[in-house]
Amino acid sequence: MSGVVEIWENSRDLTAQERRWLELVLSGDSPSLDPYKEQAKKVIAMGRCTCGCRTIELGFRTIEGLPKGAPGDFVLGEAVIETDNGEISVLLHSGGGLMTELEVIFDHGVEAFPLQYEEKTVRLFY
Ligand SMILES: [Zn+2]
Repeated sequence: MSGVVEIWENSRDLTAQERRWLELVLSGDSPSLDPYKEQAKKVIAMGRCTCGCRTIELGFRTIEGLPKGAPGDFVLGEAVIETDNGEISVLLHSGGGLMTELEVIFDHGVEAFPLQYEEKTVRLFY
């Protein structure tokens, strides 16, 4: 993410594509991901990066009853999606035990971000 973060007045649900990206990063079987898999059921999009990438800010309507992960700010995991059109990197950030940002970057730059693409392979990093 290199742009300015814009927080919306009205949050919204994740799009199908955003949800797919999130689920890919959370598809590992590490127990440390368990609280975030629960959080993913209730997560909403609160804002976005304005640089043209697909990064969104994550939040919750309420955090009551949500399981939390480890405190501190860090990257929970990364999914690198090889597509027919280039590579998309998805990084899930957390802060204070809650997921905070889904960073989505296309290796050919923001202008060229493909509207449609076919997933070839997905590599996961934790
Ligand atoms: Zn950006």
